[in-house]
Formats: sequence, C-alpha cells, structure tokens
Amino acid sequence: LYTVLCIIFLLFSVVIAFGAGLIQLNYFVKSINKGSNKGISFTFDDGPDSSITPQILDLLNKENVKATFFVIGKKIDPNLLIRIHSEGHTIGNHTFNHSRTIASMSTTSLIKEINACAEKITEVIGKSPQFFRPPYGVTTPRFNRALKQLKMQSIGWTLRSFDTVEKNETVLKKKIISKLKNGTIVLFHDTQTITLNIVPDIIAHCKENGIKIVPLPTLINADPYV
Ligand SMILES: [Zn+2]
Repeated sequence: LYTVLCIIFLLFSVVIAFGAGLIQLNYFVKSINKGSNKGISFTFDDGPDSSITPQILDLLNKENVKATFFVIGKKIDPNLLIRIHSEGHTIGNHTFNHSRTIASMSTTSLIKEINACAEKITEVIGKSPQFFRPPYGVTTPRFNRALKQLKMQSIGWTLRSFDTVEKNETVLKKKIISKLKNGTIVLFHDTQTITLNIVPDIIAHCKENGIKIVPLPTLINADPYV
C-alpha cells in the first residue's frame, strides 16, 4: 500500500509541477500565449535596466517597432518608465520583487506583490496595466485567484528566446527566426547585452520577409490599461 501511495503522490507532484510551470498548458491560469491577428509581438521582461533598456528603446525607435515591457516594480526608474510609455510602448506588470519563492506564495502575498508594482506604475504614468506576466512563467491556482480578484490578464508567450541562457548570438538568432509565424509573442529580456545585439537582425529579417511586428494589444485584441 505504501508503494502505491508513493506512486500516486509522485504522479500528483509531477502534474502539479507541469501545470504550474508550463505557461502554455493553461492548466491553472488562463494565459494568452499567442495572438489571433496577423503579425508578431515583442515583449521584454525584467527591466527597466538603466543600461540595456535605453539602448533597446533607441533601436526600437529607429525601426519604428512598438513593444511591451513587463517591468519589475522595485526596478522602476520613473524617468525611464516615462520614456518607455511616451515612445508608444506598452507597460505590463511583472510583480514588485520578482521573488524566487513566488510559486509558494499565498494568494494574499501575490495580490500584494502585483498591487505594489501596479501602484508604482500608476504613480508614474497615471494608469494601471491590465497585462500581467508571471515571473518564471509560474502559474499556480493561487495566481488564478489573485488575477481574478484583480481582474488582470495573464500574458504568456509563444516563443521563449532563451536570451538569458544562450551565449552564441548566431545560434540564438537562427533559433528565433526559424520559429516566427503569425500570432507569435516573443519573450525577450531587456537586461541582456546579447538581446541588444540580436534584436536589430531579427527586425531586419521580419522586414525582409513581410512579417509585421505589431503592438501586443493589437495582436491579441485587448486593452492594456484599466
Ligand atoms: Zn521575469
């Protein structure tokens, strides 16, 4: 009997781990993981970063590409956030602390984490994001409860770029480019030098191949702010 119980427990753990960890499964939280319209969208997580974010903004500006930035509340520099917003990009909520223990947090703590980030953003740009991206793509039943209470929309991704892991620019670029198709939401991080180096080539590839890079609210037909 003990063995049977162990096996049941193990299977249960695996289901929970996968359900909470793989955003595409939509297991506990219904995330939007791809767009329904033509084109693709760029999203940048974990900023704003005082060194990388302004350079990302420069190159997006140059190519007239509008992206979405899922910012971490405690990293917000008001001037930089104003710049992101005033240059026509969308701002999303990525919690206040981006805590490593986010998967085990209570619903109340999650609401606090999300609200603290929302308040900081509202303080600066005068409106509150509707889009939320869970740190590490973790989606637990408690996240579902928190987001329902806050009436916010979880945004996942179609294509994780692995820009925080891959060190070879050419390999990274090829991997991303080979997977771009209509509806793709690409996950980048505006904290990495490699991202700065590959984004211009990815934009050039899109332009050459008629792939439109559109703002996330356009791609998914949703309002980004309350
Ligand atoms: Zn993150």
